[in-house]
Amino acid sequence: MSVDCLFCKIVAGEIPSKKVYEDAEVCAFYDIHPAAPVHFLIVPKEHIASLADAHAHHEMLLGRILLLAPVLAKELGLGSGFRTIINTGRGGGQEVMHLHVHIIGGRAPRPM
Ligand code: 5GP
Ligand code: ZN
Repeated sequence: MSVDCLFCKIVAGEIPSKKVYEDAEVCAFYDIHPAAPVHFLIVPKEHIASLADAHAHHEMLLGRILLLAPVLAKELGLGSGFRTIINTGRGGGQEVMHLHVHIIGGRAPRPM
């Protein structure tokens, strides 16, 4: 845990969140400022600052997070599809420096 990290505090339950999933390694909760009708974040419980800070030993963890995305999305009504975003670093628009995957859906997304 990183003491100054918002998402570490959410994982630890020190800051409230609307959790949608939790296991020993991973946690998912709704985004506080949803960009669409359904918008949640999947995070590793381990503090990894960004995708650029992940290492080879995180391979399984990253795979688990990606495989969890469609399962949770379907449970939350996004069976027809969803957008997955990982912002990485300041240059990538990342605001919270704890690796997270955005899962967004529930209305037609803007083309990329
Ligand atoms: P980023 O820009 O780093 O990829 O995304 C950070 C996300 O965290 C944003 O979508 C923002 O709305 C969300 N967020 C920021 N603070 C909180 C919070 O305290 N609780 C929750 N649930 N989401 C937050
Ligand atoms: Zn953290």
